[in-house]
Amino acid sequence: MGTAPDTRTAIEADAAELDIQGLRARYAKERDRRVRPDGASQYRSASGEFGYYAKDPYTPRTEREPLTDAVEVLVVGGGFGGLVAGARLRQAGVESIRMMDEAGDFGGTWYWNRYPGIHCDIESYSYMPLLEEVGHVPRWRYAPGEEIRQHAVAIAETFALYRDAVFQTRVTGLTWDDQADEWVVETDRGDMMRARFVITSSGTLTQPKLPGIPGVESFRGHTFHTSRWDYGYTGGDQSGGLTGLADKRVAVVGTGATGVQVIPHVGRDAEHLYVFQRTPSSVDVRDNRPTAPEWAASLEPGWQRERMENFLALVSGEPVETDLTRDGWTSTARLQRKLTTGALDTSVSPEERERVDELADARKMNQIRARVDEVVDDPDTAELLKPWYRYMCKRPCFSDHYLQTFNRPNVTLVDTADHGGITRMTEDAIVVGDVEYPVDCVVFATGFDVGVSGVVSGTLPVRGRGGRELLHSWSRGPRTLHGFYSDGFPNLFHLGPLQNATSVNFTHILLEQAEHIAAVIAEGRRTGARVIEPASDAVDEWARTIGENVLDTVDFQRECTPGYYNREGAGHAGGQSYGPGPVAFHRLLEDWRRDRIHEVMVQDHATTDER
Ligand code: NDP
Repeated sequence: MGTAPDTRTAIEADAAELDIQGLRARYAKERDRRVRPDGASQYRSASGEFGYYAKDPYTPRTEREPLTDAVEVLVVGGGFGGLVAGARLRQAGVESIRMMDEAGDFGGTWYWNRYPGIHCDIESYSYMPLLEEVGHVPRWRYAPGEEIRQHAVAIAETFALYRDAVFQTRVTGLTWDDQADEWVVETDRGDMMRARFVITSSGTLTQPKLPGIPGVESFRGHTFHTSRWDYGYTGGDQSGGLTGLADKRVAVVGTGATGVQVIPHVGRDAEHLYVFQRTPSSVDVRDNRPTAPEWAASLEPGWQRERMENFLALVSGEPVETDLTRDGWTSTARLQRKLTTGALDTSVSPEERERVDELADARKMNQIRARVDEVVDDPDTAELLKPWYRYMCKRPCFSDHYLQTFNRPNVTLVDTADHGGITRMTEDAIVVGDVEYPVDCVVFATGFDVGVSGVVSGTLPVRGRGGRELLHSWSRGPRTLHGFYSDGFPNLFHLGPLQNATSVNFTHILLEQAEHIAAVIAEGRRTGARVIEPASDAVDEWARTIGENVLDTVDFQRECTPGYYNREGAGHAGGQSYGPGPVAFHRLLEDWRRDRIHEVMVQDHATTDER
C-alpha cells in the first residue's frame, strides 16, 4: 500500500503551512514541563484522614438490621449500567432482583455529582438510556445533571427496582458456594445474603481524588470536592445562585471537564474567584438549546436506538450517510480514534493515516486556540488558557461560558504549571511558587481515582469455585469471555470497560453490555441451566482475539501531556479493548447470542476444567 505522489505533496504542503514541526516541538516542551516524577502517586484518595471529602452530603445515613435472605439476581451498582441490567431482567420476567449501591439512591455518577453547572457533555437524546421506555424526552439538548439523576430514579420506578433495593451498602466479599450454586454476599452492614446471579456495575470514576499538596490538612477555611458539593455553605443549587459566596474569596483547583462547568457559576457569585490551573482544557462551542416541542412530538418509535447507533457509528469510523447529532463530537470523530477503538481507513498506509490525522488534529487545536483569543480580552490570560497538546490527550470540553468568565474583574487565573501544581497550603491561603493567595474556601475539581471496578482493583474480593481468588486467577491479566464472565466464577457478570469496546457515549456501551448479560441470564433460566460459566478455552480464545486486534495507543499516549488518560505521563492507562471498535463488537455479540449462547449454559456439575 503506497501513497500516491500528489497526495504526498499535498500532505507535505499542509504540514508546512500548519508548521507541524513547530507544533510537535511545542507540545513536547509543554508535556515535559508538566510531567512530575511522582506520577500517579502525587494524589491522595478521599479516604482515611481525608475520608470527610467523600462523605455523602445528600442522604442521612439510616440504620437497618443485617440481611440474611436470598435473591435471584444481585446488581452491585445503581448507576445507568446496573439500572439497565435491572430493567431488562425485569422485562425478561425476573421477579427477585436486589439493586445495591453505596449511595443513598440511584443515579451513580449523577447521584454524587451535583455541582453547579453540571450537564451531560454528550447529547442527552443519546446519552440518557431507556428514554422511550420511561416516556421522557430531555428538555435540553445537553441535559442538566438533576434531570439526568431524576431520569435514573424514573427508570428504577418504571421497572420496580426500588423493591428489595439496599442503599448505603458496600459489598465486602463474594464467595461461591459450590453446593448450593449460589453466591454468598457479605457487606459493610454485616449482611450475609445469598444470590444466584451477581452483576457488578460499580463504575470507573467514582472515588474522589485530591492532590497531595503539602499542608492541605492545615487549611482552616472551608473545603470540599466537587462531587460532594456543599450547598449548605455556598447556597443556591445546580442552576447557580450561590449567594453564600457573595462575601467569599474562593479557590477552584482544577480545570478539567468538571472545572469548566463549575467555574462560570462560582465566578458569577463569589466576591473573588481564583482559578488554579495546571493544564488548560480544550474548550469548544457548546450551543446548548431547549428541545423543540415540535421535534419531540415528531419522534417515531425506535428513534432513540437509531440516534444512539448513528452517533456510535460516526464516532467509531463506520460508514454513515447522515449525521443525526452534528455536534463537537461527531465533527471530530476522526481524532477520537487516536484513543478509542473503531474502524480504520485501510485504503491508506498506517503512516499516511497518521500524517492525515496529525494535520486534522493541528487544524482543530489551532481553531480551539484561536477561540481563546477571540473570547478572552486580556492577552496574557488568553495565552495561559491555550491548550498545547493533541485533541484526545485530555477529555475535550465544550462551554459557551467558561472562557468568558476570565473577562470578569473578580476572577483571577493562576497558572501553576511551572510548579507542577499548587506548591503548598497554609491555614488560610494557597501558595504557588512564593506567591500567597488568601482564600476562605477551596473547591477541589481534581477528579477521581480511575479504576475498572472493585473486582479488578481488589476492593471487592471474589472467591470462586474451590475458594479460588479472582485476582489470583487473573494475576497475568483479566480472563474473561467478552469482558463479562470468567471460568471458575459461575453466574458472575461484570459491566464496564474490560476486554471489550468503549466509546465517548459510555451509557450506550453500558446499555449494550447490560442487555447482553440480561439476555444470557434469561436464556439460562429458560433452558434450566444449572449455572452460567464460560469454558477455559473460550476465555483463552477471547484473550487471543483481544491481543490480536488491540488498538495500539501507546505512542500517542506517551507524547501526551499527563493526565488520567495516560497514567500521568507513564503511558497507556486503559484496559485492552477490541480493536475493530464498539459497532463491530456489538455485531459480534449479536452473532454469538444467536449461534453460541448455549456454550456458557452448564447443565451438570462438571467443573470448568473438566469441560
Ligand atoms: P480531571 O482528572 O479531568 O481534572 C482534574 C483537574 O485537576 C485537572 O485540571 C488537573 O490538572 C487538576 N489538578 C490536579 N492536581 C493538581 C494540583 N496539584 N494543582 C493544580 N491542579 C491540579 O477531573 P474532572 O472531574 O474534571 O473530570 C473527570 C472525568 O469525568 C472527565 O474526564 C469526564 O470523563 C468526566 N466528566 C464528564 C462530564 C460530563 O459532562 N459528562 C462532566 C465532568 C466530568 P492536570 O490536567 O494538569 O492534571
